[in-house]
Amino acid sequence: MPICPSCEYRASEWKNIASHMYLMARNSDPSHVMWMNRNLTMKEVDVDNLSIMLENFFSIKDNLSFWIREKFIQKFYGESPHPFILAMQNPTRGVLLGYVIEHQHFLKNWVKVLSEIIFKTDVEEVIKYELENINVEYFGYNGRPSHYELLIRMGESLGMPREKILSYKPLPSTQSAINTWRKIAFESNWVEIMAAMHSLELVADKTLRKYGAKMHYFNETILSSNDFPKEVKDFLREGYEADQTHAGEALKLVDKYAEDPEKIQVTVLRSFDAFAKYLTARLERGMEFDKNLIKVVL
Ligand SMILES: [Zn+2]
Repeated sequence: MPICPSCEYRASEWKNIASHMYLMARNSDPSHVMWMNRNLTMKEVDVDNLSIMLENFFSIKDNLSFWIREKFIQKFYGESPHPFILAMQNPTRGVLLGYVIEHQHFLKNWVKVLSEIIFKTDVEEVIKYELENINVEYFGYNGRPSHYELLIRMGESLGMPREKILSYKPLPSTQSAINTWRKIAFESNWVEIMAAMHSLELVADKTLRKYGAKMHYFNETILSSNDFPKEVKDFLREGYEADQTHAGEALKLVDKYAEDPEKIQVTVLRSFDAFAKYLTARLERGMEFDKNLIKVVL
């Protein structure tokens, strides 16, 4: 059933949602205006056109996970890829340290939010899937270090002691993104939380180019280059090898258990906005170590 992507007002037809959004925009409601600017158009459109645009935007041609993948690519890998992804094509020490310092907070919050999915579901395969994910992120598996540990080691290999890395508080943009995900975890049902969180793992999915992404999350020649410490390659390789199966499997579960696709779509878009903000925070932090980075962000 059609839903307002900004305030979640429901109606039986997109035309009603369009009238509602048109009115809100006319009254300069920041959240509705921002949503339309970010996702549909910066220009003013009439209700009929807005209705068509909304219906097209939310129409699911194949399945929900395909729609999520398509929107993720458009936002992060489309005509203008996210500046952090551009920076990762040739990352400096500053970019990588910014990544390490902010990402420790992301990963801690990640496992907390996944545990809310476990708390809210009775589906056995979902509980197992999430427990395995938490395990890999936080404890490691088959004797291999966890993602969290590999991240800290990457920071150490770049010359920053562990205690120093762990002493950083998150930047405001990272904290604001974390707050968004925590709000989703508290307020949404488990399928929505799964969609909101695991769609973010698409960022490192190496099959994205098959669906139209212009580049990979990082320049893959790094993995065989001598210009980077082993620990940097170990961390990046782990995501390179793991996350495509992660995101793909989780999204299959989302397809299987989704009861309210429109609500999931809206929640996923909210998560994408938080993620964009968070990726920028990595660059903001990186500027403390690499003043030239300001050129990438602006
Ligand atoms: Zn609304």
